[in-house]
Amino acid sequence: MKQTADAVVIGGGIMGASTAYHLALRGCSNVVVLEAAEMFGLGATGLNAGGVRHQFSTAVNIELSKLSIGMMERFPDEMDQEVSLRRCGYLFLADNEADLERFRRNVDLQHRHSVPSCIVGVSDIAVLAPEVALEGIVGGSWCPLDGLVDPHGLLQGYIAQARRRGVTLLTRTPATGIEISGERVQGVITAAGTIATSTVVIAAGPWSAAVGTLAGIALPIEPIRRQIAVTAAIPGLRSDFPFVIDFSRALYFHREGNAILTGMSNRDEPPGFDTTVDEAWRLRHFEHAIERLPLLADAELAAEWAGLYEVTPDDQPILGRLPQVGGLHVCAGFSGHGLMHGPATGLLMAEEILDGRAHTIDIDPLRWARFEQGSGASEFNVV
Ligand SMILES: Cc1cc2nc3c(=O)[nH]c(=O)nc-3n(C[C@H](O)[C@H](O)[C@H](O)COP(=O)(O)OP(=O)(O)OC[C@H]3O[C@@H](n4cnc5c(N)ncnc54)[C@H](O)[C@@H]3O)c2cc1C
Repeated sequence: MKQTADAVVIGGGIMGASTAYHLALRGCSNVVVLEAAEMFGLGATGLNAGGVRHQFSTAVNIELSKLSIGMMERFPDEMDQEVSLRRCGYLFLADNEADLERFRRNVDLQHRHSVPSCIVGVSDIAVLAPEVALEGIVGGSWCPLDGLVDPHGLLQGYIAQARRRGVTLLTRTPATGIEISGERVQGVITAAGTIATSTVVIAAGPWSAAVGTLAGIALPIEPIRRQIAVTAAIPGLRSDFPFVIDFSRALYFHREGNAILTGMSNRDEPPGFDTTVDEAWRLRHFEHAIERLPLLADAELAAEWAGLYEVTPDDQPILGRLPQVGGLHVCAGFSGHGLMHGPATGLLMAEEILDGRAHTIDIDPLRWARFEQGSGASEFNVV
């Protein structure tokens, strides 16, 4: 167990691993990553749908996607790890004019950030996704550059390369306390001892609020259960089946191997850490899923699981240094779309720590202070 470190990162999901790697890449390798679980990737990072998209409603999220997806493209060369980035496109479906109007405004914003998304009519949708039943659909938005990535490849790439550059990565080692004196971080306490450090990053995903309380900080991040089902192989499923989102129902499908992965978010799910599959919700999910994608009626179920979104009041992450305690940083609260922003976020957190301020992208809209100031835009494209 190290007794001192230049930085301690709490949480070994995509955010913690990417942050540690980017610190080491910049030459700051006396870093410890503390992971509570017995292996890396058992939190949200190992349980997600692998979707990557540019179609967001806020400028900062669009920029995070552009930076991250570029990094995913270079990942096999730079990180010696395949991540299976596949540009199958994301198709958002609207079943009412208000949502479609909002998609139009989002697409305008995406164009201002050079994203080639577009609004599509029902006849275009029938060509892009002929398998989908279009009952009640009035239009949608489409971006051919969106798609899928392998979450495990991304995470393992960062873990392996961080370790190679000298970062200490510990599993079964939860942070149990954060030592503070003179309004500055002094160390992180674990069952195996205390690590003296002047820099701490809270990257504990859905558990980040609990870690925040170790430093006396109330982080507005709630765990919300989300469940997924994957079918057995579906013969004849075309290889370019897109990522389809029935937006008002928060229902989605994409191709997973030779099968379909589908999820549907229960917008009334209360916060909590329960990750058992909710039987009542699963039946509702399957009923809507078969209605929208009739080929599912003949499909066999191969796997199901539930994981936790880490949700903030405006569905935007909280990034950067925390003003309450010197040396304390947060990188959490991605509200269901964090995997795709992990690469960029790690780079930005390394800049924030080593250069005093993240600069590749302006993260001011994502700082904790927005809650105190009552400012900031909510993300609309949340599934
Ligand atoms: C069902 C589902 C589908 C999703 N689909 C997508 C998608 O398609 N695209 C996308 O981009 N995102 C998606 N997400 C969201 C994405 O998975 C998360 O935003 C992202 O993985 C968050 O990463 P993280 O590192 O912040 O959290 P996590 O991966 O949860 O990592 C946090 C880690 O902190 C550890 N920890 C907790 N407390 C402590 C402690 N005291 N000390 C040490 N370690 C601690 C935990 O064990 C955990 O491993 C989805 C999420 C879910 C649940």
